[in-house]
Amino acid sequence: MAAQLRRPGLAVSLSGLALAVYWMAGELALLALSAGFPLAFLLAGRLLPGVPVAAVSDQVIDRLDAVLQDRTQGPNQTGCFVLQFDDPSWLCDRHGRTRQSEILAACIGGIRGAMRPGDMLFPLEDGSLVVVLAPSQRLDLEGMVRIAGRLQLVVQQPMALADGSVHVTCCIGFCHARQLATQSGRALLEAAQVAVDEALRHRPGALRSYTDELALTRYARDILRKGFASAVDAGQIRAYFQPQLSTDSGEVSGVEALARWHHPERGCLPPGEFLPALEGTDLMKLLGREMLNQSLAALSAWDRAGLRVPTVAVNFSTQDLRDPQFPEQLAWALDRHDLPPLRLTVEVLESVVAGLEDDIITRNIARVTAMGCGVDLDDFGTGNASITAIRSFAPRRLKIDRSFVRGVDHARDQQKLVTAVLSLAEQLGLETLAEGVETQAEHAMLAQLGCGHVQGFVIARPLPPDEVMGWLIQHRERLAKALRINMPARQP
Ligand code: C2E
Ligand code: CA
Ligand code: CA
Repeated sequence: MAAQLRRPGLAVSLSGLALAVYWMAGELALLALSAGFPLAFLLAGRLLPGVPVAAVSDQVIDRLDAVLQDRTQGPNQTGCFVLQFDDPSWLCDRHGRTRQSEILAACIGGIRGAMRPGDMLFPLEDGSLVVVLAPSQRLDLEGMVRIAGRLQLVVQQPMALADGSVHVTCCIGFCHARQLATQSGRALLEAAQVAVDEALRHRPGALRSYTDELALTRYARDILRKGFASAVDAGQIRAYFQPQLSTDSGEVSGVEALARWHHPERGCLPPGEFLPALEGTDLMKLLGREMLNQSLAALSAWDRAGLRVPTVAVNFSTQDLRDPQFPEQLAWALDRHDLPPLRLTVEVLESVVAGLEDDIITRNIARVTAMGCGVDLDDFGTGNASITAIRSFAPRRLKIDRSFVRGVDHARDQQKLVTAVLSLAEQLGLETLAEGVETQAEHAMLAQLGCGHVQGFVIARPLPPDEVMGWLIQHRERLAKALRINMPARQP
């Protein structure tokens, strides 16, 4: 509608229309038309969310269509680039909205300087920048890669601002018109957007060219994304639980909740298959809420059955952690299940806390710790968190990543790395948990090195909720038996 209203033809014919309305229907109708038209324009152009984006994308598509129809340099001699900043919310959190606009303006200036005459740049309202190339006979895919590199270079150069310099990173996706069977502006823009989405999955600073395979993956991901909310309603999203053991006592020290999607057509999907479809959307929060509720419900059921599971650890996404209501939501859920905060552990990826300054995530984690919930730093050793950051988050445990655990029983290098993490944890007064423990030999070595807790396939795979109780009972019996063997009954 906005695009229709903006057409020059409509503006030109408006006076004729007004005259016709006045002749045929009188003054009142003329009044209605003169009040109604600007109102419709305002609504379509400003008030309806999303409409201006469509209008700008329409301009991009019109430009691409025009370039595709221009055969002076031969057929299909153009390409489209979409540039996205790696972390726009960080930019805004760190520098504020005004600075963010200033940075954007500097990037646009830099890109314009790197473009040739006839190339066009469009900022879209989703924060991305689109570059449409003027037709050129010599343009091939290699040339596109070089241009993408050049655009990235100008954006990633340190920028001097009034209060210091700033360095932003970006991803670029691109598509050459010849890569597509359908020669339309819309198809070309969408193909470059598919490519930039893929680049963003490998951020920071990734470049990706469009391929048909990417489009198929994206299509499959879109289908999963569209079906996720109803899958939650239908009970298809289920928390599985993987036990964690204390290396001292052998007792269960907690369980980690891991999401599974029982898909009616595709079977049981692990998170690796569906999380990419949810990433960056509010559906991540829906997942977090669902996992939290199922985990606390399971914990209450184990309590009622007299089975001791001290805490359940839930993985939360950046979207969850950025939500200002996050600590309250945990408190409400705990309250609803009548459980004290220490029964819940919040798993936060080390990479999320690395490099954070005073932003909402930091404040949320501090509030969660103050409430009495545990915080486990997940995938520890892969995320470059500084010691200052670790101290300020006061986690309960460091979860040593599987990459350090693999082969720790025989590989000296692995032993050195694990020992280094264990002594860091000791200095900071934190507990440790090794994840992805697959063999008895790894388990034994980790215990010997002084790692406090272990989790992995050698103990149990992530179990569906109806199998957890059976496993807990069996484990209790195994422990009691081991204790009887270690302490033979006294002779009468
Ligand atoms: P993670 O948090 O690091 O979870 C551990 C992963 O290692 C799980 O994969 C688990 O099944 C697997 N694992 C456990 N023991 C072993 C072992 O001995 N050997 C090996 N090779 N792997 C082992 P899963 O369930 O496929 O989850 C993958 C990732 O998806 C998780 O990694 C976590 O980052 C994410 N994830 C899982 N559930 C959720 C969720 O509810 N919310 C969010 N935001 N992320 C989740
Ligand atoms: Ca985890
Ligand atoms: Ca992990």
